[in-house]
Amino acid sequence: MSKLAIQGGSPTKQKPFPQWPAYDEQEIAAVTSVIESRNWWRKPGDQVTTFETEFAAYQRARYAIAVTNGTHAIEIALAAAGIGFGDEVIIPAHTFISTASAILYNNAIPILVDSQPDTFCIDPAAIAAAITPRTKAILPVHMAGHVADMDTILEIAHHHNLAVIEDAAHTPGAEWRGQPAGTMQLAGTYSFQAAKLMTAGEGGMIVTNEQDFRDRCFLLANCGRLITDRSYEHTMLGSNYRMSELHAAVLRKQLARLDEHILRRHENAVALDPMMQQIKGITPQVQDPRVTRHPHYMYMFRYDAAAFGGLSRNDFVDTLIAEGVPAFKAYRALHETPVFRQQCFGPRWQNSGLKLPDYNALSLPVSEMITAEVVWLPHAVLLGDKTDLEQVVEAICKIQHHYA
Ligand SMILES: *Cc1c(COP(=O)(O)O)cnc(C)c1O
Repeated sequence: MSKLAIQGGSPTKQKPFPQWPAYDEQEIAAVTSVIESRNWWRKPGDQVTTFETEFAAYQRARYAIAVTNGTHAIEIALAAAGIGFGDEVIIPAHTFISTASAILYNNAIPILVDSQPDTFCIDPAAIAAAITPRTKAILPVHMAGHVADMDTILEIAHHHNLAVIEDAAHTPGAEWRGQPAGTMQLAGTYSFQAAKLMTAGEGGMIVTNEQDFRDRCFLLANCGRLITDRSYEHTMLGSNYRMSELHAAVLRKQLARLDEHILRRHENAVALDPMMQQIKGITPQVQDPRVTRHPHYMYMFRYDAAAFGGLSRNDFVDTLIAEGVPAFKAYRALHETPVFRQQCFGPRWQNSGLKLPDYNALSLPVSEMITAEVVWLPHAVLLGDKTDLEQVVEAICKIQHHYA
């Protein structure tokens, strides 16, 4: 048995995975052309507006509003939905912090609920159990590209008259029973941060089919001004969340690559699943057949330390990285983060008179299990070839043989 790379042996993976972000001369030419046009700002330019049209068309939505990043996209969507002081918004505890921080930034209350142990997406039964008279919205997260159970979520929302804003940061191009994720009810929000499936380093988008909602999002993101305003006529309180022309120029090229990437990742994920399932102690994210298109933001799997001689999940991740396979620990469930544990929510929450839930008292066993046991591989791992996949499996088996 060859020595582990973390102990000075040679890494399993010698040939590197495809690099991310992916780009070529098209992105460079797009940026150059914006620079040379001297139209770097959305108003004189046309890149942001065109990108909105193209992205809306891609998601088969009526409108898209480009913004600075995915966090702001959620903040604006909530504000435009009229969610504010003391309103409750139900989210999965297992998500990236922005899903919750965007709610707190609107002076609303994130209600953290559990996820499903197989898909790692929000559990609709937990949503139903968390509804109170103050509930205003459900904010499901399509985890790693797997769309949450939208049939049940929409039914609950309809029954209780709640808005649904989909955190689709992981899922441009995803579909639930043929319908694009992010367009299933009021709005969907996207991120174009560097790790995401299309990127300009930063960037975000809101999609919707409702014109009034679209108009409010635009004003909120544009200092309360209409695009045509030349008289400083600020009609409502907004801030500056505009995307720049340079970002949009790059993102238009990234959008053009998305379908090809989704296809390749899907082929590879389908090939990798049975290989991973054969490894004792490794359980990949289960795919609900109603997810008819999965863009595969990350490849998630549950890791059972017992099958690896007790090697902890955290040490497993470090050992795997040393073997040349990029890997990450799953998000920490939000109620286990210091900001929630200590309610460090800043001035907007001091003396508000609002009673927040006792986040320390929460027991969310699935979210806690995911936090402790799940590993994810970034999507570039799925952009390679058959050898790349085999080497991922080889690296995991090498670690297992060493410890088990
Ligand atoms: C990345 C991400 C966000 C935030 O997007 P940014 O563009 O980084 O602000 C929100 N939600 C989820 C689930 C994310 O993964």
